[in-house]
Amino acid sequence: MVQVDQLSEYTAQFLNVRQFRDYAPNGLQVAGRSQVSKVVAGVSANRLLIEAAIEQQADAIVVHHGFFWKNEDPCLTGWRRERIRLLLQHDINLFAYHLPLDAHPEVGNNAQLALQMGWQTTAQTGEQGLLHLGTGPQCTLAELGEALQRRLQREPLLLGDPQQAVQRLAWCTGGAQGYFEDAIAAGVDAFITGEVSERMADMARESGVAFVSAGHYATEQYGVQALAAHWSAQFGVDCRFVAVPNPV
Ligand SMILES: [Zn+2]
Repeated sequence: MVQVDQLSEYTAQFLNVRQFRDYAPNGLQVAGRSQVSKVVAGVSANRLLIEAAIEQQADAIVVHHGFFWKNEDPCLTGWRRERIRLLLQHDINLFAYHLPLDAHPEVGNNAQLALQMGWQTTAQTGEQGLLHLGTGPQCTLAELGEALQRRLQREPLLLGDPQQAVQRLAWCTGGAQGYFEDAIAAGVDAFITGEVSERMADMARESGVAFVSAGHYATEQYGVQALAAHWSAQFGVDCRFVAVPNPV
């Protein structure tokens, strides 16, 4: 069992939360009961995850995608109200960690995706250290796609010549297609992220650097699990990951 305030302060330091400029608040977003012994972890704070936490009588939920995004309608109506109502009614704390949980060198989404895929990180660069550079096994783009599909259980979209060699890699999980230019400038063979935009196909063709869209949810399912495991080890709390798969 751990006090909410202690958990919150510990994690703020561990993830270096105060160093990040982000699109949503990092940390305790909705306060519930003051002590935590059971935690449900998930990628996004959606209704299915909240209902699973209620069913498991969790004291807290920890996610990568929480609430209160910049430029989002702040009014608590409709489906948005329902999420908050369920949390308040059941006195459940909601913790959310966005960019700090992408960038963290140990439990971060980028580090954990590399661990899953057997990629070696050589540098963290770009905006707030979010672009990871490194190397993967020597293979073709098609083989990289197969490896991602095996591990993430989702077919990736590959933009590039299936037979081109890809070993020098850049990656950033989630909706990081905007970093493709930085990856091209870094001189890699392929860039892997979650989501894709229309212009990426032309950029891949014209730069010769392959672009891989491996799924936003799929690439961001490991960081929060690693953070939950860290909480378990640190505080003895019972943490369970609840998958709410998302095809995007
Ligand atoms: Zn994300």
